[in-house]
Amino acid sequence: MEHEPENIEAVRRLVQAARATKVPLYPISRGMNWGYGSRSPVVAGSELVNLGRMNRILNADRISVDHPVAVLEPGVTQGQLHDFLTAHCPQLTFNVTGSSRDTSILGNALDRGVGYFGPRREDLFGLEVVCGSGQVLRTGFRRLGEQSPLAHSHPYGLGPMLDGLFFQGNFGIVTSACFRLVPRRPREVAISMALSHEKNLAPFLDELAKLKRDGLLTSVTHVANRARSHATLAFGIATYLERQCGASAEQVRVETTQALNLVAPFEWTSLAAVTGNSGQVRAALAEIGARMGKLAQIRHVTTARLNVAFAIADRLRTLRLTRLHAAALSAIRPLHGLALGVPTDVAIENLLWKFSRTDLAPAHLDESNCGLLFVNPALPMDGGFVAAIVEEFKHIAQRHGHELYVTLNIETASSMVAVINLLFDRGQPAEVAQAHRCADALLEHIRASGLELYRARTDNMEAVVAADPDYWATVRALKGVLDPDNIIAPGRYNLAR
Ligand SMILES: Cc1cc2nc3c(=O)[nH]c(=O)nc-3n(C[C@H](O)[C@H](O)[C@H](O)COP(=O)(O)OP(=O)(O)OC[C@H]3O[C@@H](n4cnc5c(N)ncnc54)[C@H](O)[C@@H]3O)c2cc1C
Repeated sequence: MEHEPENIEAVRRLVQAARATKVPLYPISRGMNWGYGSRSPVVAGSELVNLGRMNRILNADRISVDHPVAVLEPGVTQGQLHDFLTAHCPQLTFNVTGSSRDTSILGNALDRGVGYFGPRREDLFGLEVVCGSGQVLRTGFRRLGEQSPLAHSHPYGLGPMLDGLFFQGNFGIVTSACFRLVPRRPREVAISMALSHEKNLAPFLDELAKLKRDGLLTSVTHVANRARSHATLAFGIATYLERQCGASAEQVRVETTQALNLVAPFEWTSLAAVTGNSGQVRAALAEIGARMGKLAQIRHVTTARLNVAFAIADRLRTLRLTRLHAAALSAIRPLHGLALGVPTDVAIENLLWKFSRTDLAPAHLDESNCGLLFVNPALPMDGGFVAAIVEEFKHIAQRHGHELYVTLNIETASSMVAVINLLFDRGQPAEVAQAHRCADALLEHIRASGLELYRARTDNMEAVVAADPDYWATVRALKGVLDPDNIIAPGRYNLAR
């Protein structure tokens, strides 16, 4: 059964009814947790609480450059917030993820999703939660009431910070939260660095980490391997060749490969942003060039420059080489936007295209045969360690018949994460089994190396708990306080049933 409450009162009634019947509830904001279990609860028989109808920006009339905080309900999507800001306060942007425009802000942040500016967890505070006990809890200074001048401005409150319990926790249903908006800077440049020699991955990562720590790169740095970069760009290139150039299927196949080799010829390519005023950006780019020039080929692009380059190449697309550039630029444009805070559907359209379901809207990815498993370990900020373990991941994937698609994301000043995605056809039982065997082997290796996932799939939970039962017993005991009947998402981030 699926419930679609329209307000907090309706959510409270659902929780009270669930306490009486002991039928568990599984909350989703938009339910697009693709690669982690989508909208599937861990425990069968749970009723879905789809919060998609609670999609208001509660303080819409108060958002401004001087008040860069949006109070959001869970159903607000990143596309909706982007369109709202474009229309009402274009000086502000926010931390977007690479998933579709239809995905949520709150659900993603609560599952500790990661955007292009950093971990979304850092953007959320002042949560309003209907706990499993039925109590409505407001964290931080939202407990002072919505009229308090501190309610939507001071992120920490007084005393223990309870917010943390609700990130990758299942203690309650979050019905709204404050979300940090980001002032646009006068100059925003996307910078891509292609590592010239694969053997230099370790120093490359160490240098990128220093750039992050020194504040020269102002976003997360995504470092993708060639398989991943090519997979990401192929759809945009092929679509351009097909639709804009009327190329035949064979020409599309040949020229897509040529364009990919032209723009992403090396094994590792990074993408990040440098933002600030003109002087800051000029100085940062000069410093980055001096530090990275020996290791990588560097390109910086502004939106204006990209648009001009594309317009010229597009006009001259009858010439083969120029056409390849135009196709590549057309594929790069939306990805460039992500680094600067513009959400896009291209990553999902790419998957729909691969699985021959371009007839589906991105929000309906789950109706295609696209099977996807994410395996995402947290990693130390140590280039040598990371380069070695990525090589091991590559061999494990190969042994299981998978090419390793991986991005290394330099997210914090002291750690990074790997995002490994295993793609398969869900209509083919053998492929499903093979992908799960590969994911299990990768996880085993992650654990054997003293590491852990930073975000788990629904089907990982049993192994997660088994690996450290004492820790999860404490989490379970805490859950007893806020959700005594264990009716909110049982099994998700603890195995209490
Ligand atoms: C091609 C591709 C690219 C992707 N790129 C990214 C990326 O860049 N960054 C990223 O983080 N993810 C990415 N994803 C994964 C995923 O699509 C996103 O994380 C997406 O935002 C999750 O879906 P959602 O926002 O609808 O959250 P939901 O599915 O609604 O929720 C996610 C989790 O939070 C819990 N939850 C949701 N709402 C509430 C609530 N109100 N109260 C309590 N618990 C709640 C749910 O139970 C669930 O466990 C990508 C996926 C694909 C296929």
